[in-house]
Amino acid sequence: MNTCDALIIGAGHNGLTCACYLARAGLKVRVLEARHVVGGAAVTEEFHPGFRNSVASYTVSLLHPQVIADLRLAEHGLRMVFRPMANFLPLPDGDALRIGPALADTQAEVRRFSARDAGRLPDYYAMLDRLADELRGWILRAPPDPNAGLGGIVETLKAGLALKRLPVAAQRDLIELFGRSAGEVLDDWFESEPIKAVLGFDSIVGAYASPYAPGSGYVQLHHCFGEVNGRKGAWGHAIGGMGAITQAMAREAERLGVVVTTEAPVARVKVAGGRAVGVVLANGDEIDAKRVVANVGPRLLFGSLIDPGALPQDFRARMARFKTGSGVLRMNVALAELPDFCGLGTRQQAHHGAGIIIAPSLDYMDQAHTDARESGMSERPVVEVLIPSTLDDSLAPAGMHVASLFCQYFAPRLPGGASWDAMRETAADLAIDTVNHYAPNFRASVIARQVLTPLDLERTFGLIDGDIFHGRLSLEQLFSSRPTLGQADYRTPIAGLYLCGSGTHPGGGVTGAPGFNAARAIVRDRGRF
Ligand SMILES: Cc1cc2nc3c(=O)[nH]c(=O)nc-3n(C[C@H](O)[C@H](O)[C@H](O)COP(=O)(O)OP(=O)(O)OC[C@H]3O[C@@H](n4cnc5c(N)ncnc54)[C@H](O)[C@@H]3O)c2cc1C
Repeated sequence: MNTCDALIIGAGHNGLTCACYLARAGLKVRVLEARHVVGGAAVTEEFHPGFRNSVASYTVSLLHPQVIADLRLAEHGLRMVFRPMANFLPLPDGDALRIGPALADTQAEVRRFSARDAGRLPDYYAMLDRLADELRGWILRAPPDPNAGLGGIVETLKAGLALKRLPVAAQRDLIELFGRSAGEVLDDWFESEPIKAVLGFDSIVGAYASPYAPGSGYVQLHHCFGEVNGRKGAWGHAIGGMGAITQAMAREAERLGVVVTTEAPVARVKVAGGRAVGVVLANGDEIDAKRVVANVGPRLLFGSLIDPGALPQDFRARMARFKTGSGVLRMNVALAELPDFCGLGTRQQAHHGAGIIIAPSLDYMDQAHTDARESGMSERPVVEVLIPSTLDDSLAPAGMHVASLFCQYFAPRLPGGASWDAMRETAADLAIDTVNHYAPNFRASVIARQVLTPLDLERTFGLIDGDIFHGRLSLEQLFSSRPTLGQADYRTPIAGLYLCGSGTHPGGGVTGAPGFNAARAIVRDRGRF
C-alpha cells in the first residue's frame, strides 16, 4: 500500500491547481483521474481524424492571473489570444450586431439600433466593471463561514466592511443584480432588442433558466470577473484549445513531483474513525492517504463515493438537494468551409473569430427555455458558435475549420422517461438547423460532429445532470453557501476530506480558484502555509 500526504480524486483544472499548490507547500501529492486524459472539462481532443477542439469548455477569461503566474503556465507553453471581435449577433432580417473590439466600435454599431442605448453603454459597462472588481476581491479566498470560529467571524466582518465601503449606488446595483433577473435589469437600461440579447446571453449560460428568472443577474456577473492577458472582462482563446491550460498545469505538477495516474476511477473514499484515510479504485485497488481531496462535484462525492453512514444525516439530505442541471448540449463540428452569416461570405472575416450568438432577443431566449421545460428541448435553441481554428492553426487541416456549438436549452432529464441516447441526433439536428437559418451553407459544410447531451456530459466527465459548474450558480448555492452554509471552507463533515472543485466557492468556470483556496485550507490544517 502507498501512502501520500494528499490524494486528489480527479485531474480537472482545479484538481491540478490544488495539487501544485500542495506540492509547493511540501506535501507528497497523488492525483487519480478516471479518464485517459487530464483536464476534466478543460480538455482538447481529436474528435475526427485531423480535427481537434476543446471538447467541453471552449473559451477562456476567468483563469486567475495569480494561478497563471504561480503555476508558470506561460513558461509551460500556454498562450492566450484575443478575439478580433467580442460578439456577433446575426438577426432574422439579415442584419447583425457587432460588439467590440473597442467600446467606440460597439457604440457606433449600437447607434444603428438606438442612439439612446449607445449613449448608455459606457455607464452600463462601468457599473458591471465596478461590481466585477468587487467580486474579484473575493475570488482567491474562502468565503465567510459561520462554522469557522473566530476566523469565520473575522471574515464575515470583513465582508460586511467591504460592502460598506462601496458607494450606496453600487450597493444598490449589486443587490439588483443579485436579486433581480438579468432581463429586468437590461430592460431598465436599454430599449433595443439586439443589444439586450447580446448582453443577456451570459445570464443564461449553464443556468437552465430564462433571462427573466430572478438570480440570472448574478450568472451574468459571474462571467465578468475574468481577464485575458490583463484586459479585464475580455474572453479569448488558448492556443491549442482549453486542453493547453490543463496540459501546462500537468507539466508544472510533474515538475513539482506530483504523481498523476489516468484511467484510475475512484469507486469509494475509505473512512475510518470519522476520518478519510484513502480510496478504493474501481478495480479494487486501495490507496491510503493522510488526506483525500475531491475535485469531483458535491453531488458525485457525497451521493456515490462515500458510504452514506459516514455522513451526518442532515448534511447528506442537504447535498442530495444541491441543485444541478445546466440544460446544455455541446457540439464540436469539423467544417469544410466557414459559415456564410448574413450573406457576408465564407472568406475569413473578423466576425468569424467572434462569439457568434444565435438568439436575437431576450424573448427568444425565454421562449427557448419554455419549450425545453415543456418538451425537453428548445424548438429554436440559443446557440453560441465559436470557430477557434480562425485564431489557431493547430486545430484543423489547412483551409478547413472546427467550431464549438454551445446550445441551450436541453433538459437535464427528458420528460416521460425518454433517453438522451434516443434523442441525441434529433437535438444535434435542431442546433445545426438553427445555425443554418442564419448561415445557409452551414449544414452542408459539416464533415463530422461530436455531440454531447447532458447525459454524455455526465457519463464522460462525471458532471451530474450535465451540470457544467458542478452545481447551479443560484444565490442559495453561492459564496458562503457553496456547497452549503457552514461547509463553504473546502472542508467537509469528514475529517481529512476536502472539496477543491467548482462545487465550492467561487463556483464554475476555468478559474483555478477553488483549487487554490482548497489548498490553502488544507495546508492551514496541517499547521503551516
Ligand atoms: C460544455 C461545457 C462548456 C463550458 N464552457 C466554459 C467556458 O467556455 N469557459 C469556462 O471558463 N468554463 C466553461 N465551462 C465550465 C468549466 O469548464 C468547469 O466549471 C470547470 O472546468 C470545472 O473544473 P473542475 O476542475 O472543478 O472540475 P472538472 O473539470 O469537472 O474535473 C473533475 C475531474 O474529476 C474526474 N472524475 C470524475 N469522477 C471521478 C472518479 N470517480 N475518479 C477519478 N476521477 C474522477 C473527471 O474525469 C474530471 O477530470 C464549461 C463546462 C462545460 C461542461
